[in-house]
Amino acid sequence: MRILVTGGAGFIGTTLCRRLLGLDHQVVCLDNFYTGRKQNIRQLLDNKNFELLEHDVVKPFDVDCDQVYHLACPASPPKYQRDPVYTSQICFNGTLNAIRCALNSNARFLLASTSEVYGDPEQHPQHESYRGSVNCNGVRSCYDVGKRIAESITCDFYRSKDLDYRIERIFNTYGMYMDPNDGRVVSNFICQALRGEDLTIYGDGSQTRSLCYVDDLVDGLISHMGGDYMGVCNLGNPEEITVKQLADIVIQEINPNLRSVYRTLPSDDPTRRCPDISIAKDALGWEPKVKLKEGLNKTIGYFKNQLSL
Ligand code: NAD
Ligand code: UDP
Repeated sequence: MRILVTGGAGFIGTTLCRRLLGLDHQVVCLDNFYTGRKQNIRQLLDNKNFELLEHDVVKPFDVDCDQVYHLACPASPPKYQRDPVYTSQICFNGTLNAIRCALNSNARFLLASTSEVYGDPEQHPQHESYRGSVNCNGVRSCYDVGKRIAESITCDFYRSKDLDYRIERIFNTYGMYMDPNDGRVVSNFICQALRGEDLTIYGDGSQTRSLCYVDDLVDGLISHMGGDYMGVCNLGNPEEITVKQLADIVIQEINPNLRSVYRTLPSDDPTRRCPDISIAKDALGWEPKVKLKEGLNKTIGYFKNQLSL
């Protein structure tokens, strides 16, 4: 198949492009390198089945293809808050353009949505039927509300134009091809520890996250895209830990002499987050396989390499 991956030079997109090439598909990676990196895909440029299209999804595009994985959007809080109006444009116009591109080719469309559509959840763990608790005028709104409108127009095009769609609500994912300067918790903690710096815990570190290794996540994306289940699906690892526990594990794995320091908690930072993955298990036969320590050690190896470049 010929497959379009928007945001293909980003953290998740790079692993996805590599995996699709390994399955002998032709891959068109559309990216404007807003948060992605050329070095992620440099080795792919010689592959005859790989094509790079440097383009901003906010402007219309048309790529003849069989499937569209729509990932283009900054995902790290400091990155999506840097230009929040642009983030909203990416979520709305970018998704609209990606859907139109899919419809022009009669292609299946997969939207990379997020657990952020649940906001600071009152229901735990979060099931797809939960409608969430989202602040619509806070610093995270450009992303949380942006992804909600992206889901909304995806379903509108299903109802009005029979768009063949899949929506993935992705929970915190980590692993190879993350940018060391990305600003998210796993990359911050590992890079701080590798540099011999204190680990910066925001707030008291009691907030929880559930961390999924990128290889597992990409398995889930490909399973959903290839399967019959049309609808919304949580993808994430239901093993929940506090941010403080994560800092302690990273310190233990890298250098037990390091310590954590406490910094101000950013506003609207969700208190708890953990996916209910019963739909993914039942409809896709998917569940994560990589244990946290195993994934962290692979990621530590990757960042060691990155920091020595
Ligand atoms: P990332 O920032 O590493 O990758 C995003 C990619 O999209 C980058 O290559 C970037 O350059 C590209 N991009 C951004 N704006 C663009 C634009 N206007 N035009 C073209 N390309 C553009 O982020 P990621 O972690 O790989 O996330 C990928 C997708 O998954 C995003 O849609 C994100 O919302 C979603 N997601 C990720 C996570 C996670 O934990 N990583 C969690 C929930 C949802
Ligand atoms: N966090 C932290 N220290 C950091 C970066 C993040 O304590 O250096 C916290 C952040 O406040 C949040 C959690 O770690 O509670 C996950 O943050 P991240 O930016 O990775 O993703 P989020 O789930 O907030 O979108």
